[in-house]
Amino acid sequence: MEEREIIVVGAGPAGSTAAMVLAREGRDVLLLDRQQFPRDKICGDAVPAGAIELLYNYGAGDKIEAAIERGEFYPVKKMYLASPRGYDVHAEFAETDHSSMITPRIYFDALLKEHAVESGVEFCQAQVMGPIIENDRTVGVKARFNGSTEEVRSKVVIAADGVSSVMARALRDDKHPLEHSAVAVRAYIHGLEIMPHEVEFYLYNSILPGYAWIFPTKTDEANVGLGMRTDKFKETNSDLNDMMDEFLGLPSIKPRLKPGWKMTGLKRWPLKFGSIKKIKRAYNGALLIGDAGAFINPLTGGGIHNSMISARIAADVTQRALEAGDLSEAFLEQFESRCDDELWPNMKKAYLMQRWLMNLPITVDVLLKLSGGKSGFANMFLSKL
Ligand SMILES: Cc1cc2nc3c(=O)[nH]c(=O)nc-3n(C[C@H](O)[C@H](O)[C@H](O)COP(=O)(O)OP(=O)(O)OC[C@H]3O[C@@H](n4cnc5c(N)ncnc54)[C@H](O)[C@@H]3O)c2cc1C
Repeated sequence: MEEREIIVVGAGPAGSTAAMVLAREGRDVLLLDRQQFPRDKICGDAVPAGAIELLYNYGAGDKIEAAIERGEFYPVKKMYLASPRGYDVHAEFAETDHSSMITPRIYFDALLKEHAVESGVEFCQAQVMGPIIENDRTVGVKARFNGSTEEVRSKVVIAADGVSSVMARALRDDKHPLEHSAVAVRAYIHGLEIMPHEVEFYLYNSILPGYAWIFPTKTDEANVGLGMRTDKFKETNSDLNDMMDEFLGLPSIKPRLKPGWKMTGLKRWPLKFGSIKKIKRAYNGALLIGDAGAFINPLTGGGIHNSMISARIAADVTQRALEAGDLSEAFLEQFESRCDDELWPNMKKAYLMQRWLMNLPITVDVLLKLSGGKSGFANMFLSKL
């Protein structure tokens, strides 16, 4: 393959967004993913309003409305939060132009990738093996196309290949610490009484610092899952599938399972939080975005919106770097400082709150009890999503 201007590795929310934004600027973009689309991705499928708004701003509104019509995107307007001792609250989401959505990633990512291709991106299925590095500079990638290994050169590589990124493994010197990571499991439950247009969060002692969720995808179907910080999870010697059974057996959940209910797609996946202040994400000729750059919120585990924000910033910095003819680490470090400005304040608050929940879970009970069913605490939790 001849040299390309930009290679984006991974066509999840981060990669497709970065590729789409750059193609709309008239850039030559090759987007590589090891999978064909549509494809599943283990996730809670909760796409915050901010991510939906970003897609509207980039012209994908018609596609989103058609997906809502087809029942692939399920709008959510409220949240329910239950504390360890069973105090609870229902809270309305703040008014925004667009609703948050629960949309299985099989639909969401395919829509994004399709929008990227319509914006001028060239998509190719290929398993990337790693960067080509010459004189301490990334100059392309080595990848398997249709069973044969090839090298494709480019001016810049944007790595968006998710939490187990081969690009990050080759470029980053440090290991992501366990206390800034989580493990989570999710499944689809068919035949579950849902709270219409409402997402549910359950904080209870055996899962803190973490939570279980029920996110409705249809009138009697939901994405159900739970996650926990990896270091604490290891201390429990528990099994995530057993924890799922425990959750589904809770007195508040079990009666909602209808006769003949079934569970599909039970799978686990790791998460890397963005709660370390200085993560290196800019290199000579390469940027790490989305989960490859560890942008997940340490309280909620939400990463879709942050991955798309990191993609938007990466696209802008790449555009400027190409205009300046300077793809050095020194120039691309603007990406790191702009991500810090935009994402770090919220990330830091979320991390403090996560630690506080871990050390003093009883305060959740106290706060929810004192709130008397009012939504202040719930909204604080939600604003971190
Ligand atoms: C159980 C669980 C629940 C979650 N729930 C939520 C939620 O409800 N809301 C939320 O906002 N976030 C949630 N997250 C986080 C969210 O899933 C991620 O933050 C988000 O997917 C990040 O997007 P991304 O594009 O960076 O990476 P990904 O979505 O992982 O996309 C990476 C892409 O790269 C491709 N790829 C990987 N390796 C290669 C390779 N070597 N060569 C070529 N292609 C490659 C993959 O096929 C994939 O398409 C959850 C995560 C987990 C694990």
